[in-house]
Amino acid sequence: MVASVYLVKGREKSVLRRHPWIFSRGIQRVEGKPSLGETVDVFDHQGKWLARGAFSPNSQIRVRIWTFEDEAIDTAFFVKRINDAQALRNSIIARDGLTGYRLIAAESDGLPGITIDRYDNFLVCQLLSAGAEAQKDALVEALKTCFPDCNIYERSDVAVRKKEGLKLRTGVLHGEAPSDHVLIEENGIKIGVDIAGGHKTGFYLDQRDSRQAAVKYVDGKRVLNCFCYTGGFGLYALKGNAAEVINVDVSQPALDRAKQNAETNGFDLSRAQFLNADVFKLLRDYRDAGELFDVVIMDPPKFAESKAQLTGACRGYKDINMLAMQILKPGGTLLTYSCSGLMDQNLFQKIIADAALDAHRKVMFTERFAQAADHPVDSAYPEGFYLKGFACTVV
Ligand code: SAH
Repeated sequence: MVASVYLVKGREKSVLRRHPWIFSRGIQRVEGKPSLGETVDVFDHQGKWLARGAFSPNSQIRVRIWTFEDEAIDTAFFVKRINDAQALRNSIIARDGLTGYRLIAAESDGLPGITIDRYDNFLVCQLLSAGAEAQKDALVEALKTCFPDCNIYERSDVAVRKKEGLKLRTGVLHGEAPSDHVLIEENGIKIGVDIAGGHKTGFYLDQRDSRQAAVKYVDGKRVLNCFCYTGGFGLYALKGNAAEVINVDVSQPALDRAKQNAETNGFDLSRAQFLNADVFKLLRDYRDAGELFDVVIMDPPKFAESKAQLTGACRGYKDINMLAMQILKPGGTLLTYSCSGLMDQNLFQKIIADAALDAHRKVMFTERFAQAADHPVDSAYPEGFYLKGFACTVV
């Protein structure tokens, strides 16, 4: 017998709007004893069936909904979801010449807690919820069915798993282990990805559209690429004919890879520098030394992991953006991003406005950015919109 979850009166509203999360406070009672990640049926307070989801006894998000239809959660279910996600991306893949893309963007693709990135013939899975973990075998079977030529690797080494009562895990799920240099291509640029050792699943696919949009700002310019990781924006800047690109990161392996990626693409390395430095300190040093740039790219890691961290995060974003403005030539371009989901676009815009006041510069927003098109946002799940950015002219 499938266990049943009955909601508090009124709490069915978000489910009827097809939002996939049920919080513990919204649950009136549970019938049966569902284990970690087990499939449960969800009913309203009058006993009307609403949805089927996965039970997370240790998380505030107590149920993550798999489906609003009366269907089994099995290999066939995952095959259908994966095929739908692939179909949604086919035209983007063809348009941008992608051999690396996000195949499954978790809740946004109807698979809560499951992220799958494809790098050439490797599928890299990140399973973040108890339900995702419980369905791992069915998911892997489905991936083998949909992509018979692909290897499957797991990168579930993310701290949020602990909130779900899960251990961290990485390793081969099917086929071969990846080399530390799986080559992908996007918009004609080649990028080597370290699937087992890189950040997240190996690469920041979500900034692809913003990287491409950056190309038009850099021709003949002096560019500072802060938080460069394995090259990212810097590779696009070289493609866009920047006069000079200074790439900065604190990770030496990332910088080594960035240089190697520039070489792989045949770019003129005399135009590029790869600097191991703390961006916060380097920007102050540049400001104090009177160094000036035409374009500053600011793509920091997530500063806010929880609501409690948001105030501190706002200070961090304001600080680096103020410093970036101070080292821009009059009329220079600031390309700035925030991947903290808790910081919405309006708040981010306000922070840039505060930074402009402190920097004593007039700042004009000229373009807005979001996560790349293979990271779609389901209208029922607005939380899926997490990455935003602006192009600003700093007068
Ligand atoms: N722009 C990149 C992704 C950036 S991810 C792309 O397009 O692919 C954020 C990067 O910031 C990571 O590589 C991390 O090593 C680096 N980082 C974190 N804190 C830093 C700091 N204080 N100074 C410099 N780099 C930092």
